[in-house]
Amino acid sequence: MKNLLSVIENAEKSHYMEKDDIVRLIKESKYDDELFKAADRVREKYVGNEVHLRGLIEFSNICKRNCMYCGLRRSNKNIERYRIPPDKIIELARKAVGYGYRTIVMQSGEDDYYTVDILKYIISNIKKMDVAITLSIGEKTFEEYKALKKAGADRYLIRIETTDPELYRAMDPGMSHENRKKCIRDLGKLGYEVGTGCLIGLPNQSMESLADDILFFKEIDADMVGVGPFIPNADTPLKDADGGKFEIARKIVAIMRLLMPDINIPATTAMETLNKDGRTLTLRSGANVVMPNVTEGIYRKLYALYPGKICTGDTPAHCVNCITGKIVMIGREVASTKGFRMKM
Ligand code: SAH
Ligand code: SF4
Repeated sequence: MKNLLSVIENAEKSHYMEKDDIVRLIKESKYDDELFKAADRVREKYVGNEVHLRGLIEFSNICKRNCMYCGLRRSNKNIERYRIPPDKIIELARKAVGYGYRTIVMQSGEDDYYTVDILKYIISNIKKMDVAITLSIGEKTFEEYKALKKAGADRYLIRIETTDPELYRAMDPGMSHENRKKCIRDLGKLGYEVGTGCLIGLPNQSMESLADDILFFKEIDADMVGVGPFIPNADTPLKDADGGKFEIARKIVAIMRLLMPDINIPATTAMETLNKDGRTLTLRSGANVVMPNVTEGIYRKLYALYPGKICTGDTPAHCVNCITGKIVMIGREVASTKGFRMKM
């Protein structure tokens, strides 16, 4: 069996790893430090020292889906639902641009209130502010994605959640794994920058399955991959599940950086929920993007995918200063560009 240190060294140069070696690296913690350092070097070499900030607007917590892990699932009656009106969304985007953000991410549950026409209105108005727009609003048809692209959307985030069809069936009842994959393909065909990712630590998810997820992201040549630990939510059927581990998620970020040197990888909010330095540790293990929340007021608390979400009592102005401080503290800088992937 190959020595794991040589697996890391080799991947730093070749950006290739066998599935078995990925599994061993996830399971074994002896070489974590070497793994994180190698990922940090690859990150610096390919995507530099700049950290891209993306301002996240969580504009509706109404969802027609029923994902087992998520607090926004339609069967959850313990949550107060909201929709931010289109003009208010545009106003939040304008403020975010004022704080210096060069990308606006619009995320929500799958809420059909926001028709393609309404979304086009919002997108075209935000687009006038000279920013990149990322959508994260779930599964739509090819024609709908096409219309949103035409209106000005640049990127789309849609996690595969897991590449294991069996686990997907159990976690996302009533949804089709095939259709999820088709959405990812359609977005690529339409010229979006495609962001995907998975949850880490779902019930019955094996390390082998996580290795498959990583290889899937590489195979489809994703432009951005965001992963995060699954955090059990008391208002869902998975309330008593164990949940994901920070260190595993951090290792997966590092392995992804070794294998996909030029993509954008965020240090996700869920990482900081499990570890108070979660985002900076992740930025030092391969990540180069942070998505601070620019939603205001009560909506921040109500967008409760999982419990313990950070910064729900803060303002967008506070968050941009806080994260900028953390980025500077670790010797990095906040990017001033829109932060598209530069393919190498
Ligand atoms: N409705 C859209 C976007 C909002 S959900 C969609 O599903 O694509 C955004 C992400 O939140 C999901 O992809 C999922 O991976 C993550 N998420 C949901 N519940 C979570 C939980 N309990 N712990 C951690 N992440 C969760
Ligand atoms: Fe809805 Fe997305 Fe939550 Fe699934 S993960 S219930 S689609 S908000």
